[in-house]
Amino acid sequence: MMQCPNCRSKDIGKIGSQQYYCWNCFIELSILGDEWTVHQVEADGSLSSLDDIFTAEERKIQ
Ligand SMILES: [Zn+2]
Repeated sequence: MMQCPNCRSKDIGKIGSQQYYCWNCFIELSILGDEWTVHQVEADGSLSSLDDIFTAEERKIQ
């Protein structure tokens, strides 16, 4: 079961082949191997990485 690494919500929507969006905390999630990479969508539409605020353990897809 996929869970948001940030808020642990399971309310995750698929927006692309490897891309997901958390409807609870509004971050974009991509799958890289068996880990999430986490991005925040900025007001101008660009993405900034949030990976460094999570540990590898937290980003593991369970
Ligand atoms: Zn979330």
